[in-house]
This record gives sequence, structure tokens and C-alpha cells, in this order.
Amino acid sequence: MTHIIHRSLRHTPLVAARSQGIHIIDAHHKKYIDASGGAAVSCLGHAHPDVLAAMHAQIDQLAYAHTGFFTSEVTEALADHLIEHAPGDLSDVYFVSGGSEAVEAALKLARQYFLEIGQPERTVFVSRRQSYHGNTLGALAVGGNEWRRQPFAPLLMDVPRVSPCFEYRDRLAHETQDAYTHRLLTEIEETFIATGPERIIAFCAETVVGATTGAVPPTPGYLQGVRRLCDKYGILYIADEVMCGMGRTGTLYAFEQDETLPDIVIIAKGLGGGYQPIGALLARAHVVDALRRKSGMFQHGHTYLGHPIASAAALAVQRVIQRDRLLEQVRARGEYLRKALVAALGDHPHVGDIRGRGLFMAVELVQDRATRTPFDHNKKLHAVIKQQAIDNGLLVYPMGGTIDGKSGDHVLVAPPFIVSEAEIDQIAQLLRQSINQSLR
Ligand code: PMP
Repeated sequence: MTHIIHRSLRHTPLVAARSQGIHIIDAHHKKYIDASGGAAVSCLGHAHPDVLAAMHAQIDQLAYAHTGFFTSEVTEALADHLIEHAPGDLSDVYFVSGGSEAVEAALKLARQYFLEIGQPERTVFVSRRQSYHGNTLGALAVGGNEWRRQPFAPLLMDVPRVSPCFEYRDRLAHETQDAYTHRLLTEIEETFIATGPERIIAFCAETVVGATTGAVPPTPGYLQGVRRLCDKYGILYIADEVMCGMGRTGTLYAFEQDETLPDIVIIAKGLGGGYQPIGALLARAHVVDALRRKSGMFQHGHTYLGHPIASAAALAVQRVIQRDRLLEQVRARGEYLRKALVAALGDHPHVGDIRGRGLFMAVELVQDRATRTPFDHNKKLHAVIKQQAIDNGLLVYPMGGTIDGKSGDHVLVAPPFIVSEAEIDQIAQLLRQSINQSLR
């Protein structure tokens, strides 16, 4: 019996006891391969000695000092590190304790920016259907999942939504990739115009969609088009890289591969690699300078922002990624993972797509490869696969069967950056086995 309000109030989840490298061991000594790094969190794997040492040293030195009085050396060092490695004129960081909090902070920063530059009429955010931005009320409001939002709808702000960029599912047979991208951008512009562009604060989008549709990258030119449209109407572009950022796709920020630069970037999961709860937003100079010039403050704050131990953990994680050239490794192992998944599942009659970037890959399951018909939502195939994989000692992140009737079930595979080729082969084989067992 548990006294914790778990996700399920009927079942107690597995009890994790220890973790090491890419493995988690449960209270019954069963060992699992952590092939999704939790939910694309664990980038260095578990119990990395450098991170543990940095955290121990920080605990001995300074565990907590309230930001109403202090910043700390380690939090400043983390901010310096992030800005030094950030592209373009991303110039300032704001630290929080996780992804949803970072999204909330980004929404408020964007709103405050327009207040400070004398455009108080801008009160609307535009986002995309099939997106996930977190579970707090503001983050839920901009998120796309209808079934997540619906019970709380009276409490949420109204957000116009456009189609996601989901080529596999939505590009028409006769349509070129360019024409498809153009169609999506036209829809965004029409939505801006219908809403009244002068009322819009920002367009929010995950660079590579994670949880809802499974490692779906944008088509070439799509994000550049988003940037152009935002510039045309004076709208901010907020990139949510909570899941796909911090090296997961092979570059520190996924949008770098799309040669674009958002105004505000949201990061979390891989920032602290699971060692501490931490999230952040990075903002470009013009955004923060507007606040600096006018009110001189950001009207936001939480008790634990810029926590020294979280900062020490994140700084250690990020330094290891640089020192050990792990972004190169993500690119190489990511290609290896793609090939291993294609070899294991590419000809599977119920696999419709294998997609993603770097070590952020997904396998989409369909009833019929030719028509791409998804499985019946009520079958909850993703949940069956998740349990079957657990039985086989494999932790992956299956989601899906969204109720739009078009999205299939998918399995996200996002192992730690330190995964070996032999371990990738093992992951691909265990995944194939788990999928086959689930379809029986
Ligand atoms: N944005 C994205 C893209 C996410 O994937 C998530 C978490 N899955 C969040 C925001 C929310 O982060 P958290 O769960 O840390 O609040």
C-alpha cells in the first residue's frame, strides 16, 4: 500500500532501487536497460562519477541560499557556460526546477516584454495541435493534447492552434515536401491574420515533437518560415526544447539544424540529466534588454530557482558533454541506432515509420503499412508494448493513439549518450521482440 498519489491510484509502479550507467535495478533486483533515459532525461546515464563528485562538493560548500538575497557562484558559472555555448544573441538565462515551470516563465516573460515595449494588447499565444508543453495550467493551455486539456478547459486561456509539422502522417501523396511545408506556413499565417496579429504574443512549438507524436522533426525550411512569419507580424517565437534540446538530437539545440533562432528557448530534462530537477529559459538580448530598460525586473520567481546543487549537477553534466565530445557521439550513435532500428523493424508489417534525429528516435506502429491506418485507440497498443518491454527488461517510452483518429501508437527510443553500439543492438532486438509479443 502506498500513500503517494501516483499516476495510477490503483497500481503502485515499479520501485527503483539503484541505477548505474544505462541500467536501472528495481527493488526485486531486476535489471532494466534505460533505453529512453526516462523521458529523454538521462543523457549521461546513471551515477556518472563526475556529476556525483560535483554534487557532493557543492553540498559541502553551499546547499541553498534564497535568491531574494543571493545568487551563487555555481549558478552564475552554469549561466556563463550556457550562454557561452548558445547560438546567436541568446544572452540571458532564467533558472527554474523543470520543464513546465520553464514554459510558464517563458509565457510570462514574453507577455511582460510586450507590456514593457508598450504593446499591452498582445495577450494571445498560438501553438500547435499535437504538442506537449507541460502540465501546469499555462503550459497545458498552450499544449495541443485535447484529452489532457479538456477536463481543465474552464481554467485555461484560449489558444488558437495550427497543424503540427508531421510529414509522415499529413503530407498528401501528390504533394512535394516543399508544397507541404508551404501549406503549413500558409495555415499559420491565416491563423495569425484571423486572430489579429497585433494581439499575438508568441508562437510556441517544440522543435522536434517528443511525447505526443514521437520524435517528429520539422521539414526543411519550416522553422525558417515560422521565424519569417513571426518577424513579419512582430510576434515572438518560443522554442520548447525541454525534450529535444541539450544535445539529444546531435546539436546542443535542435533548432541549430534548422538554421533558425527563436527569441526564447526552453530547456529542462537533459540540462540536469536527471541528477537534479532543473529547467531554464534562454532569451535573446532584445527581450531581456526591454525589461532592463523599463521596469528593471522580471515579475516572476520561485523559491528554488537557481538552486546551487541543481546548478552544480547541470554544470557537471554540460561540462562532461563538452569535454567528452558527446555531441559527436550522439550523431554517430544516433545513425547507428537508426540503422539498428531499420534492420530490426524496417520490414515489419506493422511498422509505418522510423524517424527522429540523433539519439531521439521513434518507431510508429500502424495496422496497415500501405494505408498508414493507425491501430484502434481503445486497443492502447502503446501501453501493451510498454508493459511487454518492461517484462523483457527494456525501458522505452511508448505513447500515442491520440484521439484525432489519425495518429498511430509510437515508441520513443532515447538512450543515454554513452550507450554503446552493442547495447543499441540489444535495444533494437528487445524492442522487436516486445512489439511482436504485444501484437500476438
Ligand atoms: N515541454 C516538453 C516538450 C516536454 O516534453 C515536457 C515533459 N515531457 C515538458 C515541457 C514539461 O516538463 P516537466 O515534465 O519537467 O514539467
